[in-house]
Amino acid sequence: MPKVETIGVIGAGQMGNGIAHVAALAGFKVVLSDLAPALLDKALAVIGKNLDRQVAKGVIDAGAREAALARITTTTRLEDHAGCDLVVEAIIESLEPKLAVFRELDGVLGPGAILASNTSSISITRLAAATSRPDRFIGMHFMNPVPMMQLVEVIRGIATADETFATVEEVAKMMGKTPVEVNDFPGFVANRVLMPMINEAIFAVYEGVGTPEAVDTVMKLGMNHPMGPLTLADFIGLDTCLAILRVLHEGLGDPKYRPCPLLIKMVDAGWLGRKSGRGFYRY
Ligand code: NAD
Repeated sequence: MPKVETIGVIGAGQMGNGIAHVAALAGFKVVLSDLAPALLDKALAVIGKNLDRQVAKGVIDAGAREAALARITTTTRLEDHAGCDLVVEAIIESLEPKLAVFRELDGVLGPGAILASNTSSISITRLAAATSRPDRFIGMHFMNPVPMMQLVEVIRGIATADETFATVEEVAKMMGKTPVEVNDFPGFVANRVLMPMINEAIFAVYEGVGTPEAVDTVMKLGMNHPMGPLTLADFIGLDTCLAILRVLHEGLGDPKYRPCPLLIKMVDAGWLGRKSGRGFYRY
């Protein structure tokens, strides 16, 4: 099995900074990249704050915090991922930018390196086909917030090799996560099941069945969900939810996945949820 020592993370947003955090804490060297230095500074600040929280809770000690931060280097150049054994892409949920990143990375990385995408819904098989290494390409779908959530959906594309799967499964375990193997179909398992529920909750608001507070309270108190679907949608990002629903709708060709017009309108307005300060709730 190929040895993984250095992990690249592309995109230092909510997911990318979490992946860098858990990888560094697990002892991997991490190269984290994004489009601009200010985004990387922000990501390092978030990682530092989240590590502080773990120290305060007694999950890790101060030495582990410092060691983890010391293992992370940042860059705005994709070429700087050249020495990585595994690169996890976590940029915006949009096909063309992801394809462009993978085409460029494929030329930069050593022949044995593994490429992974944290995509919520885009076809792993399609992303892999843009590279010369579809056998060393896989989906590594972390959950938000990465340091807190146990699950990693590990998605096999049509050409993913068993050895690639075994390596990534092992890396996920080393990060303290529980990997679950799934196959490559739109939305995989997590979003195939979650997004129709979120979309239906938005339809319930759109049609006046209930307020966002009412819908969330019903699901929290009635179904024992830890947070209501609209609070969760705001947390995920409404733009990301819309992008995933579009992939389900197009990929599966079933009208039951059509995104609610209210979701489209809110994204058009720039109401993207927690990250923009307004979604179904104000932050
Ligand atoms: P985000 O908007 O918080 O972060 C995306 C980051 O990628 C931004 O910092 C942006 O500057 C950067 N970026 C964009 N284009 C880039 C490029 N060409 N090169 C380098 N960096 C680039 O988004 P996020 O919520 O972190 O989502 C990232 C990925 O993770 C998406 O594919 C999303 O579907 C997936 N995901 C999200 C969640 C969630 O709950 N938000 C959960 C699981 C998976």
